[in-house]
Amino acid sequence: MTAESPLLGLAELQALAQQPHRACQCPLADCTGWTSVPGHRWPGSALVAVGTLRHAEGAEPTFEEWHPQRTRIDSPDAPLAVHHYPCNRAEVFACKQCQQVVLKYDETGGYYFDSRARRVHSPSLLCDPSPP
Ligand SMILES: [Zn+2]
Repeated sequence: MTAESPLLGLAELQALAQQPHRACQCPLADCTGWTSVPGHRWPGSALVAVGTLRHAEGAEPTFEEWHPQRTRIDSPDAPLAVHHYPCNRAEVFACKQCQQVVLKYDETGGYYFDSRARRVHSPSLLCDPSPP
């Protein structure tokens, strides 16, 4: 995370996700749902950071998830609610070759650290219901 990453909202993310995509062998093409991507597998050189969904100031963002259709957090068809968990902790990247948008957040526990990534494969999954 860098200090200069601009804070993105739903409209900006939808605009990024709707850009025309070129064919690409994205290393993260399989991450249609939130997928664990250990640091050594993170294709940093293939991606460019475009922003963050994480508010730098204010209260700790919610851990509430948004699953009106009974999806699970790792479902490929789970909504991407920008102010719900885990989008509200995510950094936003784009593939340099095909402009596919990828979100990434770090899951931490007591003895546990994991980076999870999800490609925004369908702009229609993006939404912004009222935060809980
Ligand atoms: Zn790509």
